[in-house]
Amino acid sequence: MGEKETESPVLAIIVPCYDEEAVLPSTNAILRQKLDEMISSGFISPGSFIMYVDDRSSDNTWKVIHALSSPEVRGIRLSRRSGHQCALLAGMGEALDKCDLCITIDADLQDDPEVLAEMVGKSLGGADIVYGVRKDRKTDSWVKRTTAGNFYRVMRGLGVDCVSNHADFRLMSRRSMEDLLEYGERNLFLRGIVSQLGYEQDVVFYTRRKRMGGYSKYPFRKMLDFAIDGITSFSVRPVRMLFWLGVAFMLTALGIGIYAVVRYFQGATIEGWTSLILSIWFCTGILLMGLGIVGEYIGKIYIEVKHRPRYRIVDKV
Ligand code: UDP
Ligand code: MG
Repeated sequence: MGEKETESPVLAIIVPCYDEEAVLPSTNAILRQKLDEMISSGFISPGSFIMYVDDRSSDNTWKVIHALSSPEVRGIRLSRRSGHQCALLAGMGEALDKCDLCITIDADLQDDPEVLAEMVGKSLGGADIVYGVRKDRKTDSWVKRTTAGNFYRVMRGLGVDCVSNHADFRLMSRRSMEDLLEYGERNLFLRGIVSQLGYEQDVVFYTRRKRMGGYSKYPFRKMLDFAIDGITSFSVRPVRMLFWLGVAFMLTALGIGIYAVVRYFQGATIEGWTSLILSIWFCTGILLMGLGIVGEYIGKIYIEVKHRPRYRIVDKV
């Protein structure tokens, strides 16, 4: 780098968009203003830009991006709906050789653009990765708040290193982006991979707002899928726990066996079939549960070995 270090960095703000025509014009106005402020204060270089990734929206999102395009506003369009995580990756892959830093932010600006400058400040201070972390979850529904809280607790309990209350609002330096793009997995849970990258990591706190317009693309069902993906992509402990559960069951069965023999020699009557039938159901339940967990991992392996492309860009502005 040498020479570059004295220059201000080129920043790319990457915004994944699926059916966001309702919010894009106001999002763009706000992001442009923040970008211009940072450029004029010399924080970032004039070549900095915003990059919208159209995740093959079904509405006019791509047309809106096209109309907004300028030297500071670029866009790419994916060949099919590839999902939020792949859209982020596509944006980073596209921006990689054109920037020194990137910040990923959702199109609905629920993540506060006011802290963009603070993120860049921390990066200039030496951080490679800066996480945007929510101060609280007041704007969330009760269900989302409790499920999210428990999710992060379970993740940490299972030994997955991940920052609580951080979604995909974060700054990354070019070298950390390069590392991230080398991870070839299809089951993408970016926030888990990013915390494994290492380097200097820092956080900024912000208050998450309500969506400016449009609708949420993460209904409960999808959130649950995403959570299961997150856990099974990073931890094999559920399978190991299953093994120990099996051991505990064997020991219990042994105990019952010894007890039965003792009772037999004491001349006591054999116990009724209730306990027997109960244990059959219980053990079958545990077995099926176990098969389900193992199946989840095999499913993941199946998807990984096919090594399909995660996204393809079909258009650029
Ligand atoms: N998004 C996407 N592809 C999808 C779903 C979502 O690119 O398949 C984008 C969406 O446009 C938004 C971001 O991902 O910019 C987060 O989605 P959303 O705000 O709907 O999720 P929530 O904030 O409700 O969890
Ligand atoms: Mg949102």
